[in-house]
Amino acid sequence: MNSIFRKLVLPLTVFLMQSQVIFSQKVNPLLHYTVSILKPATHSYDVALHCSQWKADTIRLKMPRWMPGYYQLMDYAKTVENLEAFDANGKNISAQKLNDNTWLISGIKGKPFFVKYSINTSKQFVANSYVDSAHAYLIPENTFLYIEGQLQVPVSITLSFNKEWNKVATGLDPVVNKPDEFTAPDFDILYDCPILIGNLQELPSFKVKGIEHRFIGYNIGDFDREIFMNNLKKIVESASSIIGDIPYKQYTFIGIGPGRGGIEHLNNTTISFNGSGLDKPGATNRVLNFIAHEYFHHYNVKRIRPFELGPFDYDKGNRTNLLWISEGLSVYYEYLVVKRAGLADAATLFSNFEGNLNAHENNPGKLFQSLQQASYHTWSDGPFGTQGNEKGKAISYYDKGPLVGLLLDFEIRNATQNKNSLDDVMRLLYQTYYQQKQRGFTEAEFQMACEQVAGISISSFFEYVYTAKELDYAKYMAYAGLKIDRQTVEAKDKVPTQKFTISRMENPAPLQAEILRSWLGE
Ligand SMILES: [Zn+2]
Repeated sequence: MNSIFRKLVLPLTVFLMQSQVIFSQKVNPLLHYTVSILKPATHSYDVALHCSQWKADTIRLKMPRWMPGYYQLMDYAKTVENLEAFDANGKNISAQKLNDNTWLISGIKGKPFFVKYSINTSKQFVANSYVDSAHAYLIPENTFLYIEGQLQVPVSITLSFNKEWNKVATGLDPVVNKPDEFTAPDFDILYDCPILIGNLQELPSFKVKGIEHRFIGYNIGDFDREIFMNNLKKIVESASSIIGDIPYKQYTFIGIGPGRGGIEHLNNTTISFNGSGLDKPGATNRVLNFIAHEYFHHYNVKRIRPFELGPFDYDKGNRTNLLWISEGLSVYYEYLVVKRAGLADAATLFSNFEGNLNAHENNPGKLFQSLQQASYHTWSDGPFGTQGNEKGKAISYYDKGPLVGLLLDFEIRNATQNKNSLDDVMRLLYQTYYQQKQRGFTEAEFQMACEQVAGISISSFFEYVYTAKELDYAKYMAYAGLKIDRQTVEAKDKVPTQKFTISRMENPAPLQAEILRSWLGE
């Protein structure tokens, strides 16, 4: 992030627009957006971009095609309607559509101008904007056009909405004493901060290492708030103790109502959440695992990140072979974080892994696609592997990723007499690439970090990543005194299905017992 820009910005005139053209004096920065949600029941909202002056005569305005965290092209530009540009006198200036997500604005050299458009929303989903009479969920990549080549400029935002709505939840910095105004030092931060508005409920916040953690949500349902927030606190403590550093000033869990999925950000996460199931142990474990996953992502993918995942190319997307680390190991750690937080027992932890085992081992795609390929091809295959006619030719890194994480952890623990673990690899990556080098790690650097922590060459292990070689569970799980049983059962559709069970060996050797004990956090 680029805080220096804030200091460089001089007071400038920008313009406010609502239903008609109104100009008024305001101060910095160069680009100011107004989002007006005046008729939310129509599922649409208006956006105006005001620019006090621009050095070039033309700019290309672009709508991103995707949002980091959801690795699919989303066609956000399809939701843009009625785009028009004006000069300071409210007179139309040229706004020519060049392709599906680019507009050329001309004749603006040294002069103020503004651009207005509407966003039409249709589907309630975690990775696109959605507005209805009760709330607004704004995905910034689905809202704010950027000037091509100018992602580094600071922006300010004013939100204008129904006065019956009581609260805004976002990771953006608020302007002091102006609850509806926010700033971002650049577009990467702007695009990292979704905005939720409505009659939202905020639960009492908690602090970990002096840092405030909030939970704000829409339609959050009925559950025991105190138990839930205590559990969330334990999750934050458990996850942050693995890395040993909390890198944000404040963190917000943003519940967006019923649905599926969550998206991770630097100082917040948006999660589909309606409180359901929090009175049943199995469903509670799934909810806590899910929240731990999204929370752990602020380390693993936002800061401990693949080299290719930054700077972001909002037009073309950023492909990487390493999503199995960012996603698969976040699944691995969601289970461990919840177990080590004391919110699940060992049997629950084993059953979490059994779920991935059953899914992966019964997927014929395991013989066709490697983790590396699954990471790269997710943009075309979809987040859970190919479907339809191509079903069975791909794997899900959400299943094989945590399994490889499990075996890799045991490999490192066994090689070092349990002195080191995969936790040390994650810490090393955080310190070396996020804190010191301030960049992502490459595929070779990930393997090197594992070997440095293991103290031996483990290149043969990485065949489980680079090829479709079948996983040797028995060998690695024995390092932790665990065994795996496989049964063939007949599923409902009469297809024979493999069913796996993880259990403890009787009479483990001292090293096996020690590895299991410390891995479980007991
Ligand atoms: Zn994830």
